[in-house]
Amino acid sequence: MYTVIKRMEISAAHRLQLSYPSKCQQLHGHNWIITVYCRARELNQDGMVTDFTHIKQLVQDTLDHRNLNDILSFNPTAENIARWLCDRIEHCYRVDVQESEGNTAIYEKED
Ligand SMILES: [Zn+2]
Repeated sequence: MYTVIKRMEISAAHRLQLSYPSKCQQLHGHNWIITVYCRARELNQDGMVTDFTHIKQLVQDTLDHRNLNDILSFNPTAENIARWLCDRIEHCYRVDVQESEGNTAIYEKED
């Protein structure tokens, strides 16, 4: 089994829809650290699990310097973003979304 791990930083804003009062309901920004984990039993014809550049393109081209509420159709919590990314990246089984120092959400596919 092969594993690749890609870590990226993006800047993006969001505003959360919550069932309780919170300052997170106001539009605000983070420098997000996104870590993507992919694995495969066999390598592709290029000798890779997946190209690091393709992961970076998908994450940065869609999310970097954006208002996440404008481009995502769901409440853009760190948990939901992790799931959304994991579902879109080939061979991905886990995504860590660090919103700020000490605050990380992880989505993992169940086997
Ligand atoms: Zn936030």
